[in-house]
Amino acid sequence: MDYLPICLKLQGHKVLLVGGGIVATRKARLLHRAGAVLDVLAPNITEELAELLGEGGNHYSTVWANQPLQGYRAIIAATPDRAVNREVSEAAQRQHIPVNVVDDPDLCSFIIPAIVDRTPLVMAISSSGSSPVLARRVRSDIESRYPEGYADVARFLGERREQLANVVTEERERRLFWEHLIDETELVPALLAQQTARAQALFDAALANRDGTQRGAVYLIGAGPGDPDLMTFKALRLLQRADVVLYDRLVGPGIVEMARRDAEKMYVGKQRAEHAMPQSEINATLLSLAQQGKRVARLKGGDPFIFGRGGEEIEGLMAAGVEFEVVPGITAASGAACYGGIPLTHRDYAQSVRFITGHTRNYTLDLTWADYLNPSETLVFYMGLAGLSIIAQSLIGAGRDPETPTAVVEKATLPQQRVLAATLATIEERVAQEQPQAPTLLIIGDVVRLHPTLGWYDGVSA
Ligand code: SAH
Repeated sequence: MDYLPICLKLQGHKVLLVGGGIVATRKARLLHRAGAVLDVLAPNITEELAELLGEGGNHYSTVWANQPLQGYRAIIAATPDRAVNREVSEAAQRQHIPVNVVDDPDLCSFIIPAIVDRTPLVMAISSSGSSPVLARRVRSDIESRYPEGYADVARFLGERREQLANVVTEERERRLFWEHLIDETELVPALLAQQTARAQALFDAALANRDGTQRGAVYLIGAGPGDPDLMTFKALRLLQRADVVLYDRLVGPGIVEMARRDAEKMYVGKQRAEHAMPQSEINATLLSLAQQGKRVARLKGGDPFIFGRGGEEIEGLMAAGVEFEVVPGITAASGAACYGGIPLTHRDYAQSVRFITGHTRNYTLDLTWADYLNPSETLVFYMGLAGLSIIAQSLIGAGRDPETPTAVVEKATLPQQRVLAATLATIEERVAQEQPQAPTLLIIGDVVRLHPTLGWYDGVSA
């Protein structure tokens, strides 16, 4: 982060504005809204600026000449003369007073973000000076997502904080209450529709029936194949409610960061032959955290019920009567297929698709190869890289055409995605040359022919 966004309290504090033109007036409007007492230093000032000075503010109709700066909480330079702006900036910084020079990030010790003002809810968007236009674009998105009525929502909630604190002393319990009220009741829609009485009734009801908001729960969440954008809305919503997040190697970078900042994050490993935490221990941990009343998000790569041992993880919870939810995710096969330009079925090439585990035990694979010979069926092997040689040779041995197009998709949907296309006979050699890194998915069938035409995602198309 190049800048730390903070919210500066200016109510009743003095701020110096150097400059009196249109640009300075724009800043003055903002400062005025934040309750600052303005002093303006400029030979001439606009009429509006004169009005904004208000009570206690002064207009010094001189030019900048190193006037004393004590007593100012912040200083803004908005003159058309860069040399003057620089002098103001230097003088302020010598005295450690926050200074902003309009449109000149190099001279600023703070920058003023684009703002969505739903006071008391205030949202600030900054591109750290790299693209004010982008920041404004984001601001307009946020403006439409949080209409004016959110001011009422924030005020309503703020006015009841103290009341709740008197009734509920524990901080965590209060947080759960607010989350329940905001996420799971009609309170926000009611307030946006100006139905204050209804909102009050909802608040009272939630307060009277608080028990439901403190029970532990486990959310078994499919986080998709890697690209964080491939999470579902539900996955994101539940992830952001969790007190504890358990995740493993297959959960894409950037996904865990979407959890609450204060949520505890536990890495439970799991890469081939490197089980950071054995499955039984993961199951026991989920159960015990939920029984302590925690809300636990268990993030799984892809879909929790496709080679994810999701079933085992909830069995114990079910037996113990712990509340849980299972959230489907985009499985690696879908991710690799779509981002790799390899439709899993296709009118001309494949009428069915099979997901198969290629996980080897003691270097053998106990599969009925004779079932996999249908030339119009696509085969997708998960965990198939270590067993690639056995898979390819067994299929050929059982009678599948050695010329069958075959691809290994490495790190599907991530920026490092590569698609290594070959045939059943040559895929081993291709893999030996290219040395793809886990996770990889093996796709076998005529649909792989489509990759050169439909592969759209750069990653690197090999
Ligand atoms: N539940 C997961 C699969 C877990 S098994 C799902 O639905 O996707 C783990 C295997 O999934 C890996 O060995 C690999 O074959 C595959 N896999 C997961 N993510 C992948 C990715 N981004 N790219 C390629 N293969 C992936």
